[in-house]
Amino acid sequence: MTDRPRHDDLEVRAKALAPDMRPGSLRTSGGAAVWLEAAPAAPHRRRIGLLAPHDHASIRAFDGERSDVGRTLSVVYGPLSPDNAAALRDLLPDLRPRPLGLATSAGFGDRLGLATPGHVAGLRRAGAADTIRPIFAQQSIREMTRTGRTPRQVMDDATFGAFEAGWTGEVGADADHLKTEEDVHRTLEAGFAFFTIDPGDHVDDEASEAEGDALRTKIEALPWDQLEDRWEDLRGRWLGTRLDADGLPLSLDETALARAAAKYGAALAQAARLHRTLAASGRPFEIEFSVDETATPTTPEEHAFIARELARLGVPVVSLAPRFVGRFEKGVDYRGDLDELKGTLDAHARIARAFGPYKLSLHSGSDKFSVYPLIAEATRGRVHLKTAGTSYLEALRVAAVHAPDLFRKILRIGHKRFETDRASYLIGARLESVPGPRSLADEALPGLLDDDDARQVLHVTFGSALDAHGGDLLELLQRRRTAHEDALARHFERHLAPFVPYAHVEGATP
Ligand SMILES: [Zn+2]
Repeated sequence: MTDRPRHDDLEVRAKALAPDMRPGSLRTSGGAAVWLEAAPAAPHRRRIGLLAPHDHASIRAFDGERSDVGRTLSVVYGPLSPDNAAALRDLLPDLRPRPLGLATSAGFGDRLGLATPGHVAGLRRAGAADTIRPIFAQQSIREMTRTGRTPRQVMDDATFGAFEAGWTGEVGADADHLKTEEDVHRTLEAGFAFFTIDPGDHVDDEASEAEGDALRTKIEALPWDQLEDRWEDLRGRWLGTRLDADGLPLSLDETALARAAAKYGAALAQAARLHRTLAASGRPFEIEFSVDETATPTTPEEHAFIARELARLGVPVVSLAPRFVGRFEKGVDYRGDLDELKGTLDAHARIARAFGPYKLSLHSGSDKFSVYPLIAEATRGRVHLKTAGTSYLEALRVAAVHAPDLFRKILRIGHKRFETDRASYLIGARLESVPGPRSLADEALPGLLDDDDARQVLHVTFGSALDAHGGDLLELLQRRRTAHEDALARHFERHLAPFVPYAHVEGATP
């Protein structure tokens, strides 16, 4: 084994080898230097460079073209491949996602795989880099299906993006809206560490209003075996009990208890099942329980029921996403009564403190600018913000400015596909108020990204748009890297700044 070269020597030699290095990407670790640089054949594309002694383990671990540099060093130039992403995480372990605990956190879904450097820039601009833990790799199974990406691709794109931007802090990775054991296995294998269990298909929304025989039938039909429980026992635990949720008194009468059990019982059993799958893997994980996509809001009493019953079943949650009051539509600000929301956020936050502690998770959290200060304050920073489609809209903003023809094609698909593609989303947009692709001058196109109806139409038709024009859009974003990064940085600074006064990384009581 050759003596390890000094890190600053390696850096100097790496910079000499790589004039087109992506600034900020160069890192040294364990006697090797690694960076991203422009690929010579196509300068807007990236390749990985590695410089280390001939016999260094990483020289074999990275795949690519190898050549000698002087007497003792080798350089390897390789593609952004799955093997090289894994080798990079081995060399720089901070790039490997891990559970983030109760730290204030934000999830940045990235449907295109090129947004992470912009997300990093947004964290830095908001002054949140040290206090808000990021989850760059985050995609729901529904979105992976629509974008044709695998969990591994989502993970690797985030790894390369964080590396490119010189991010050295902790990162999480959110396998979002998992519904089946198969989903859990696939995302575990890809290295995800935060698992959002979505048992929404098992939530019985009708139970909120049920009574008499109908309610009794629902109770009898619950999977009591899997819940390791009986109705008499459940009654015994709850009725006549007055709970104190951090100063908020809560109690459920017989009807309220029966409705809560009927509404969420099967969902709790499903969560317990997916938790067992995770626990059996022997890997580090944390769980979010999400019921945000159900038809009826989660009342504070129901939330308390869920929290205490999850604890009884031994399902630990790091965050929980209730369905809040009002409308959390995709890609636009909150629609509803902010005073009412403020009151219920306070109640939900108290419950999360008293029966966890865990974070409140804000799903469909993109563009909810009026909600951020309320939830940050109510939770005292014990909160997870989850955004997804809004980054795609910022990518389209780059197209609207720099590639009007491409943007018009995507807008045309939006018009054609909206009524079909909106099916699984909460959306209030009216298609007839969105101008057609031919009716606007080029200069007016970017304005559509500031129009609520157009945003939603473009937001939900992403799968169809990417099927037809994904290649062109990716090409454009790589050529207009700086514009893309700036758009994202500006947008996410606005998302994150309201959380900063409350943000904290330690798990201690805020
Ligand atoms: Zn969600």
